[in-house]
Amino acid sequence: MNGIGLFGGTFNPLHNGHLKVAEDIKAGFKMEKIYFIPSAIPPHKGTDDLADTKDRFQMIKAAMPPGNRFMASDVEIHRQGPSYTIDTVRHFKNKLPISTPCYLIVGMDAFLEIDTWKSFQKLFDLIPFIVMTRPAQDTKQAEDPAADLEKYIHVHVDPEYEFLQHKSRFVHPAKQPVYLCHVTPVDISSTRIRTFVRQGASIKGLVPDTVEKYIHKKGLYL
Ligand code: ATP
Repeated sequence: MNGIGLFGGTFNPLHNGHLKVAEDIKAGFKMEKIYFIPSAIPPHKGTDDLADTKDRFQMIKAAMPPGNRFMASDVEIHRQGPSYTIDTVRHFKNKLPISTPCYLIVGMDAFLEIDTWKSFQKLFDLIPFIVMTRPAQDTKQAEDPAADLEKYIHVHVDPEYEFLQHKSRFVHPAKQPVYLCHVTPVDISSTRIRTFVRQGASIKGLVPDTVEKYIHKKGLYL
């Protein structure tokens, strides 16, 4: 399988969990490239502790490994108004060759709120999802992610989705598949990074060095 991954989020800030799970997905799905797409105005998160969009974007850019397997995308930054995933997916679908498979990458916690996203049903027509597991300490995730996901999809998305256990994916006669991907558990969240910074605790090893330096230089999250 070959293709492009779209990895959206607030990235407030980008942390090593984001990078590790993206490496896992890229390897597992043999992707060419993953775009990290910070939302300018996240419709589903508070803005109290939200760093400036430009800072969040710069931190991603500075943390991208050499080569172009990971790229920071400013597509949501240049759009007016709230950053809706449906608009971003349409943007990439229009831009990429029709033969290039495109996947939407989301953490389990984010996916389990997808019924609150704008035009979420349309997303299931347009693009396959890759749902990443996430350690339970940081999220509402329970012990059996496949069972949780199945329940949620049947209630909130479409009861015709069927789980193929041996393929770890949900399939539907007309809609796009939803892949459940067991990534390396990395118990890091941006919330924790912001809390540590505010408390004066070290964030070394939790974020790339470039991000750590940027946060301290700009005095973010104090
Ligand atoms: P916050 O703590 O501010 O809510 P976050 O750490 O969840 O932030 P986001 O920028 O909201 O970071 O995450 C973007 C996407 O990456 C989401 O889909 C989220 O579920 C996923 N994600 C973030 N951290 C991890 C992790 N450690 N493991 C797996 N998925 C993650």
